[in-house]
Amino acid sequence: MAEPKKSKRKKKKRAPRKRTERVFAPEAMAISRPMAAAGGIAATVLGVGVYGQWIRDYATKTTPLEHAQWIVVAGALGLAAVLWFGDKTSHPVRVGDGGIAIDKGNDLTRVAWCDMDRLFIESGNLIVIGEGIKLQIPIRAQARAVAWAIKECAERMPEALDVRPGESDSLPGPADDDGELVEIADVQVAGAECATSGTLISFERDARLCKNCGEIYHRKHVPAECETCGARLGERAVAA
Ligand SMILES: [Zn+2]
Repeated sequence: MAEPKKSKRKKKKRAPRKRTERVFAPEAMAISRPMAAAGGIAATVLGVGVYGQWIRDYATKTTPLEHAQWIVVAGALGLAAVLWFGDKTSHPVRVGDGGIAIDKGNDLTRVAWCDMDRLFIESGNLIVIGEGIKLQIPIRAQARAVAWAIKECAERMPEALDVRPGESDSLPGPADDDGELVEIADVQVAGAECATSGTLISFERDARLCKNCGEIYHRKHVPAECETCGARLGERAVAA
């Protein structure tokens, strides 16, 4: 009698399934070569301006170079522009059980797989469209995230994948140690409706998610197969 009891307890103790995703920091040289060159020129102009305006004056006790203050202004503006436009491409990207998300500090914009309408490449960006949200991920700065997004989309939501053969050839192959694997903590399920019964989910503890596509169900109405992606559910559904 002791054996079955032991195995039962062991089963109960099994760790609950966690939803995870990979966080990809933008690659260090995210700024394009022309942008880097522009930055270098702007910094040089700034340096020349500073020299003309102040240092030369101090060193030689002569009057500042004519127009030196305008050279300072031009250099500073150029540098600011480069930093501003360069910075726009450098947000962390998340890919995993929660779909695809761009992490802009306080603002995490996420498209779950179950809401994804289309994923395609355009002008050097991966574009993700779903539920009125458009994510734009620069391939140059986020090649590994883009590779993972395409791989996972092919597995989880293949009908949304609209990347033509050849378009993703330059991407690195997805490797297991890419990005940083983290638990998903931000998904809002309270207030959502169960995808199969329409039941309002008032408490997070009542929600069950499809591990494959993230579709949300009430725990009392989890179907055998996900309504959205067809994945087997039942006990495989995960808590939010
Ligand atoms: Zn599903």
